[in-house]
Amino acid sequence: MRLRDTIVAIASPHGTGAISVVRLSGDEALQIVNRFLNKPISRPRYVHHRELFDTSGSLVDEVLVVYYKAPKSYTGEDMVEIYCHGGILVTQKVLDVMLAGGARLAKNGEFTKRAFLNGKIDLVKAEAVLQVIEAKSEKALKLALDNLKGKLSEEIEFFRRKLLDILAKIEVSIDYSDDVIVDDSEIRHDIVSLLEMLRSKIEMAGKGLHLSTGVTLAIVGKPNTGKSTLLNRLLNEDRAIVTDIPGTTRDVIRGEIKIGGVHFVISDTAGVRETEDVIEKIGIERTLREVQKSDVVIFLLDATTGFTEDDQYIYELIKETNHVVVWNKVDLASNVQRIGEDDVLISAKTGEGLRALEQKLLEKVRLIVEEGELSHVTSKRQLEYLKRVYANISNAYDQFKKGYPFDVISIDLRKALEEFDELLGRNYMEDLIDTIFSNFCVGK
Ligand code: GDP
Repeated sequence: MRLRDTIVAIASPHGTGAISVVRLSGDEALQIVNRFLNKPISRPRYVHHRELFDTSGSLVDEVLVVYYKAPKSYTGEDMVEIYCHGGILVTQKVLDVMLAGGARLAKNGEFTKRAFLNGKIDLVKAEAVLQVIEAKSEKALKLALDNLKGKLSEEIEFFRRKLLDILAKIEVSIDYSDDVIVDDSEIRHDIVSLLEMLRSKIEMAGKGLHLSTGVTLAIVGKPNTGKSTLLNRLLNEDRAIVTDIPGTTRDVIRGEIKIGGVHFVISDTAGVRETEDVIEKIGIERTLREVQKSDVVIFLLDATTGFTEDDQYIYELIKETNHVVVWNKVDLASNVQRIGEDDVLISAKTGEGLRALEQKLLEKVRLIVEEGELSHVTSKRQLEYLKRVYANISNAYDQFKKGYPFDVISIDLRKALEEFDELLGRNYMEDLIDTIFSNFCVGK
């Protein structure tokens, strides 16, 4: 069985450090490691100091080795962790020795996948592992740690039990309709209260997601207003990383910055301007749809040209968004024609006005990042499933109100139950699982 082969990976980050960790999981983990130690180990959860040799008997490193006996390990299988000196070469050598000994190189997220498949964690907790690693703010980290301890899983389990109760009452009345008199008003009350709880969960989910994934910001404006210059200025000042997203059309660049503790994910969209060219028009519309989904938009204007027809065209399309009007190139213009009281004046070139712009952005996202009760929904997948559950129970409730028979109503309720199970990963599909775990790094 494939699950049983022993996997190995370097679990610490690539590069030089004081210590590196090479970890193995599988039935033969202990046996493989022992073959290369000066003295075999057997006692679980105990730190052993050993010498590790390669296949030809030369010393590789002095190491610490810990054995975790199944099922009391992260993956639920036998596991061994080897702590060696943190050089790239020595770590690679330890890995090579284990591969020569019969272990197979682990794929991304395979350790966590095994933990999931062996029933150590549910899917929501597995996602939390990834989110702990990727957390970019204190709050995101807290949410992820809560979920790792089971916060969201328990909430979902609670909703699921409520749904089961309702289904049970309905099924009883289907099976024993002659003997049991079911109280319709009780079922109605149960469904309404479950829908209510789910709705508030879904509404609040936005906040948890923002914390985990960042606040999205788009910069739009006609060509040459200085969008790229502004983006670079924002990114450089905050020493963020600019990344090219492969596969995106034209020049959408993304970067991430922190302003006042808030994590912004910025995209610089392609120049937008009125055009007769149909194809370009489609491109622009697509760009603007993206823009409309952003949490906040910078509408960039050129102070040297004033408010032009092109600007008017763009403004019509974004005026309903949460936006800031920004006049750029004030270093070249002595007189800036504003369009509103809140307009911000900057020079992306000299950096003038940048602080004021950042303050304005923080003001605009205050509602999103505001303190308050937080939702533990931290991934789009989780939100998507909650919405599906809600839709199915709503359908069932509509049918209930129309007086449909219980066996019809129960169909949608059962669908909702299945979706709860999929959310927790009980009814998993192989490729969904692979997609989720492939986002992990090797060794996790
Ligand atoms: P984009 O097409 O909107 O991305 O515009 P760019 O960032 O490529 O800028 C267009 C031109 O305007 C470039 O030559 C920039 O150097 C210049 N530019 C951008 N911002 C400023 C500014 O604040 N002051 C001045 N003087 N020039 C600027």
